[in-house]
Amino acid sequence: MRKLLIVGNWKMNKTASEAGPFVQRLSELVSSSEGVDVVLAPPFTAIQAVRDAMAETRPFALAAQNLFWEDQGPYTGEVSASMVRDLGCTYAILGHSERRHHVGERDEDIHRKVRTALRHDLAPILCLGETLAEREAEKTESVLSRQLTQDLEGLSRDEVRRITIAYEPIWAIGTGQPASLSQVETVHELLHRILVEYWGTEAVAPVRLLYGGSVTPANTGDLLKSTRIDGALVGNACLDAQAFAKIIGTAQEVVSR
Ligand code: PEP
Repeated sequence: MRKLLIVGNWKMNKTASEAGPFVQRLSELVSSSEGVDVVLAPPFTAIQAVRDAMAETRPFALAAQNLFWEDQGPYTGEVSASMVRDLGCTYAILGHSERRHHVGERDEDIHRKVRTALRHDLAPILCLGETLAEREAEKTESVLSRQLTQDLEGLSRDEVRRITIAYEPIWAIGTGQPASLSQVETVHELLHRILVEYWGTEAVAPVRLLYGGSVTPANTGDLLKSTRIDGALVGNACLDAQAFAKIIGTAQEVVSR
C-alpha cells in the first residue's frame, strides 16, 4: 500500500513550553496515523519538549529543520547531526528556501549537509524550488535540475533510497497561492526522470516526492489524490493542531481508498 508522508515544519514558531501542550492536543485529534508517516519539525529548542510530550502520546517522527556539516568543534551557533539524532530526530529538512535565501545557503553547502545527515542515519528531506522570476523566465526546469543534481551529487544508490524530495516553489510558500496540481505533477515528473537517469528505477522507487507551498486542509485532498505526489511539507497550517490533524486525516482517507 502507498504510504504518504506529511511533514509539519514549525519554522521559528513555538517555545519549548508551548510545544508540549500542542503535541498533546494534536495526538488527541489524530486518532490513528495508519498509512501515513507524520513528521514534526520543531525548532531545536523545542525538540526535547516534543519528545517528552510524545512519551505519553502518539509517536510522530521528529525532524531537525537544519544541521551543520561538521560533526563537532568550534562552530558557534551551529547544531550537529549527532546532536539532533541524540534528541530522537530521524529526519532532517535540508535546503529549505528560507535558508537558501535568508542565510545564503548554497547548493555546495546543502550537498555537504545531505552527506552528513546520511552518515548519521538521518533521512534528508531535501527542499527544492524556483522563484517567481525564474518560473516566469522559463527557468524552472534548469533551476530544479541544478539544485537536485548538485545537492545529491555522488550519492550511491543505497544513499539515494533514503532521500525524500520536497518541491516547494518559493512563490507558493506562505502566500496562500499553492501551485496547481498540473504544475506540481509536471515538476515531479521532471524530478523523477532526473533521479532515474542518475540512479536507476530500482534505487529511486522508495524516494518520496512531496509538495510544499500553502498546503491547507482544503487543498490537501486534491493534491494527494495524484499518484505522483507522495505527501506534503506543511508550514503555516501545521501550527494549528486542528488544521494539521485534518491534513493528516485527509491523507489517511486518500491512502485507504
Ligand atoms: C514551507 O515553508 O515549507 C511551507 C510549505 O510553508 P507554507 O505551508 O506556510 O506555505
